[in-house]
Amino acid sequence: MTERLSPVEIMGALVAFPTVSRDTNLPLVDWVETYLAGHGITAQRWVDPDQPHKAALFAHVGPWEEGAVVLSGHTDVVPVDGQPWDSDPFTVVERDGKYFGRGTCDMKGFDALAIWVLVEGRYRDLKRPLQLALSFDEEVGCTGAPPMIVEMQNHLPKGSAVIVGEPSMMQAVTGHKGGFGYDTRVVGFEVHSSIMHTGVNAIMAAAPLIDWANHRNAENRAATPSALAAMFDPPWTTCHVGMISGGTAHNITAKDCRFAMDFRIVPGEAKERWRDAYFEAVREVEAQMQAVHPEARIDLSEQFHVPPLVPEPEGEAEMLVRALTGDNAGHVVSYGTEAGQFQEAGYSAVICGPGDIAQAHQPNEFITVAQFEAGHGFMARLLDRLSE
Ligand SMILES: [Zn+2]
Repeated sequence: MTERLSPVEIMGALVAFPTVSRDTNLPLVDWVETYLAGHGITAQRWVDPDQPHKAALFAHVGPWEEGAVVLSGHTDVVPVDGQPWDSDPFTVVERDGKYFGRGTCDMKGFDALAIWVLVEGRYRDLKRPLQLALSFDEEVGCTGAPPMIVEMQNHLPKGSAVIVGEPSMMQAVTGHKGGFGYDTRVVGFEVHSSIMHTGVNAIMAAAPLIDWANHRNAENRAATPSALAAMFDPPWTTCHVGMISGGTAHNITAKDCRFAMDFRIVPGEAKERWRDAYFEAVREVEAQMQAVHPEARIDLSEQFHVPPLVPEPEGEAEMLVRALTGDNAGHVVSYGTEAGQFQEAGYSAVICGPGDIAQAHQPNEFITVAQFEAGHGFMARLLDRLSE
């Protein structure tokens, strides 16, 4: 039997693993697996075959039946490179009523509370099961959770209400936008710029596609939002180009241009609509390029896809969190989370976790002791409820 650690001790252990998304999270997964095993909980892992240095972990306590409450967190954190930290980012330091450390807020604080409550649940007479789901690669486009969600359903009785513990100041967040993005590679044909009419300038071919985004944004902004869209800020779907590169010299028609086209769609609008519209614009430009040089082309590859979290009126997860927090207001956010992915897989899902998203990803990231304790209280009430 392993010692039962406090939530703060568990957070300290988790933060000490520098699980930046590009790096391995296996030492952290090993630690959690061993800790849970010490309390008689058999966790299962899903190793990404394309990245065998990363794994998700999930576990179940209580009656072996469907209907668990699922506590979902990610194990990866954003880098600390170039950030001015006043203390070691991978050591939790308590100062001025705050716990400092990378991931304390986003979201190893919640992970620690979830691990704590799972172990406590193991020693209680739970009437309803509780599950833990720890993913990876959340910070690089929420790509680790979907295969984990499939594996969980293969190995555990299906849970019903998912609480994704992204920092929400312990409020119930019931909706967020969806997002997806394309790496767009324009392949032109190089000639001297003095005879540019015989070449294909990839940068100049990219320009109308980027301007296509400007036009869509202007149209979307001018349109009257649906009731669902009106909850969001801004209340419309946005198209955004955040990165571009290309060309080699001012007097050569650019052979390459590559840019990132991202969409953030309001719930209620279909991803397919925006995808198809963009693809059509791309094919139109490509046809013009190929009229000059047949080998010119535009390649698209999807970089990420995060479904929206659609508010569920009277949804099970929302009702549970409202009962545990006393928060009855409606909250939505504009960033994507794994909650939409659970919802897409047929779970009721809500976001509720300690800490303020404003502190996430920052140098000197922290969670206040008060928020951490609020999360602790939430978990204790959850245990009581599951034992009723
Ligand atoms: Zn997060």
